[in-house]
Amino acid sequence: SRRSPTSQMARNTTLRFLTSLLVPGGVLLLAAWALDHEPVVWDAASPYAIYFCVGALVAAILLSWYHDQSALLGVASAVGLTVWALERWPDDTSSAALAATFLLPLNFVLFAFLKERGVTTLDGAFKIAIVGAQAAGIERIAQQSSPDIGSVLRWGTQSGAWSPISLPAQVAFAASALTLLWLIVSRRAKVEGLFWALVAVFFGLHESAKAEALLFYAGTAGLVLVFAVLEHGYDIAYRDELTGLLGRRAFTTMMERLGRTYAFALCDVDHFKRFNDTYGHDVGDDVLKMVAEKLSHVEGGGRVFRYGGEEFLVVFQGRSAIEARPFMESVRHAIADTGFVLHGPDRPVRKRMRRGKTAQDKPPTVTVTTSIGIAEKSTRHSTPDLVLDAADAALYAAKAGGRNRVRLDETIPASA
Ligand code: GH3
Ligand code: MG
Ligand code: MG
Repeated sequence: SRRSPTSQMARNTTLRFLTSLLVPGGVLLLAAWALDHEPVVWDAASPYAIYFCVGALVAAILLSWYHDQSALLGVASAVGLTVWALERWPDDTSSAALAATFLLPLNFVLFAFLKERGVTTLDGAFKIAIVGAQAAGIERIAQQSSPDIGSVLRWGTQSGAWSPISLPAQVAFAASALTLLWLIVSRRAKVEGLFWALVAVFFGLHESAKAEALLFYAGTAGLVLVFAVLEHGYDIAYRDELTGLLGRRAFTTMMERLGRTYAFALCDVDHFKRFNDTYGHDVGDDVLKMVAEKLSHVEGGGRVFRYGGEEFLVVFQGRSAIEARPFMESVRHAIADTGFVLHGPDRPVRKRMRRGKTAQDKPPTVTVTTSIGIAEKSTRHSTPDLVLDAADAALYAAKAGGRNRVRLDETIPASA
């Protein structure tokens, strides 16, 4: 029996999300965990844990510096700081060790929230100073061997608890991990690397009974951060900054491996120039973001690219144009049904509220529509470029036919 397109799509989206969450951070951590639980391998590898740890963390710090990623630089330094503190004060009841363990997860959340403004800027210096201040603070706590701080950080901890990590630190880790997950799921923030690095360090601290475990997992965290920096490089190369969609370069690399059956849907915003001219370029950009957001929820496994200025390309692998059509029809409806709200600078929201909401005071909304042309691989259109040309011709026909509609390439028999 065939699955309904909708349920299949829901599965595809979930699968894509889970994959992006797990790769590469989750997979790296799983590999580390497997290695940790194989005694023969562990015994052979653990003498080198210190080299792995220092190597991976230094690589993460240098690479994030080179790629101007101050959040990743801050987190990698904070992990390094914790390793340094725990190696220096190995007794995990010492106030300095407790403080280092407690502070670490808070760094992850802090750096996830702070705006990314590069390393060699005032903001970058500020982030480095935050980590430096913590190092100084931990050193000070150790010198004073302050019993107060120690007892606060040990608060609620019983002997024989499930984890050697103090209870306040466990809470800090859990709260930080949940916050990062929330950022990933609902804000679509790219902090998967931070999340997995945090979990990795937690594993290391949790296994503190095992010598070298912290070094080993901190090194794994460093490796996860290295991958996060590299992924950021990929995004810069392949993603469009305005919409977050994959750009034309990504489409070009995909063209070579499309397979035997595929359809292209070319989608163009109607009268977009008028939008820019009437409301300004910024509002035009917001329209593009809205259209991109709606398109990114296209069903049927379509992959969306920002092809040009206000043109988007949806690639359906393994589908014909006729199969792709209903999915594009529903996105077209979704876009047309979304009234685009105009928040002009002359219409501040608060002022409107104060005057009370009446029908007249509602912010003006305008309708954004799109025209879509779909073509498929066939004997006549045998290469991606030819299919693209055919989709462009179908798009032109949709425009000529009155806009806000989907047209199939005219050489497709059922296109009428
Ligand atoms: P049609 O319905 O025939 O498609 O009319 P149109 O006005 O949308 O078509 P046209 O191709 O003439 O206009 C496209 C405009 O899109 C021209 C350009 O100013 C604008 N544009 C292209 N890229 C961007 C962008 O990134 N941001 C904004 N705000 N405007 C853009
Ligand atoms: Mg255009
Ligand atoms: Mg247009």
